Amino acid sequence: MNRCTKAILYKDNLRYNLEQIKKYVGNGTKICVAVKADGYGHNAIITSQIAQELGIDYLAVATVDEALELRNAGIKTNILLLSICTPFEMPDLFEYKITPLVFGTEYIDLLKKAADTYCENQGIDKKFDVHLAVDTGMGRIGCYPQEAGEQAKLIQSTKHLKLGGMCTHFAVSDSLEKANQDFTKVQFDQFKTAVENVKKEGIDPGICSCGASAALLNNQDMHFDMVRPGIITYGYYPDQITHDYLVSAGKNFDIKPVLALETKVVAIRHFPKDKSVSYGRTWTAEEPTDIAVLPIGYADGLLRRFSPGLEVTINGKNYPVRGRICMDQCMVEIGQNNKDVHLWDKVLIFGPKESGALNTADDLARIGNTISYEVLTSITKRVQRVIE
Ligand SMILES: *Cc1c(COP(=O)(O)O)cnc(C)c1O
Repeated sequence: MNRCTKAILYKDNLRYNLEQIKKYVGNGTKICVAVKADGYGHNAIITSQIAQELGIDYLAVATVDEALELRNAGIKTNILLLSICTPFEMPDLFEYKITPLVFGTEYIDLLKKAADTYCENQGIDKKFDVHLAVDTGMGRIGCYPQEAGEQAKLIQSTKHLKLGGMCTHFAVSDSLEKANQDFTKVQFDQFKTAVENVKKEGIDPGICSCGASAALLNNQDMHFDMVRPGIITYGYYPDQITHDYLVSAGKNFDIKPVLALETKVVAIRHFPKDKSVSYGRTWTAEEPTDIAVLPIGYADGLLRRFSPGLEVTINGKNYPVRGRICMDQCMVEIGQNNKDVHLWDKVLIFGPKESGALNTADDLARIGNTISYEVLTSITKRVQRVIE
């Protein structure tokens, strides 16, 4: 794989971020690192290996296939499945020690049947942990808080399932607006009520978790037994919670971007005045200029909506992408007689300081009217991940 368009993983930065998270949450709280969507585009196996080395308690994935990929790579850490799977996938949960989130009598019953069948087929008598999901305001998966006691009872009544934990997910914990912080507090109180309802039934609620990156940083009173950081592991702050904000709030926390997206100049073209570039002819040279061609496009994850606006870094200077980004290529204006840019020079799309990039994924997100999460997970399979 010698393609020049690649994603470089700064492993030390990943380690640094995880150490920062560990220090920030303290010893009493477990950590579940979200490695879903191939580790937010960084490569789930490498991310999980480092997390495992650092003694992280849980990894979180979105699909059973994502969990199997980790198990097949020899990852032994507990895995939490954050989304609902189909009955066909359930036997793998037991076979590969994947802990599912559950809610609702129908789903719990399907899982119970799958567990009974699995244990019968294997000739074993075991109880498998499940975490009860509670919807306190996200409006996604989970039972209502007032149903938690009954659903915990239902889980405990099965032969091969047991309640290993409870969780909820915040909808606006990444916002600093008062109304949103108040909503997060209401969600947290509802979650506590749900946990109490389970305890009232004489059932141990197990490992309770609610905070993702935002609440982990901003609501230290809401850590419960376990936090579930995703984006901060990869070096980006969730929305309004920034480094500056944390410093002003008297909190000591620092992270570094982990991934750099890079390519090379594969052609330099001389453009006369009035020559247009790319599909739709959205940009035309107003004077003679030079254009560098880059072998990266939206099929690599360089979203079409990044142009106009995106500038890329070549030898420490930023240059604007001109015209529409194509599927596999895009064009950058370097200007006439540019002595700083040569054929085969490295081009940084975004990355940490060490990579030489002047952009981060946050800068691209701003241009593309999205969030760093989408910029990172948009990088496609065609882009090889290389460890630095
Ligand atoms: C993705 C996800 C997380 C991690 O979220 P970040 O904002 O990236 O920290 C945590 N919990 C659940 C349920 C998730 O779906």
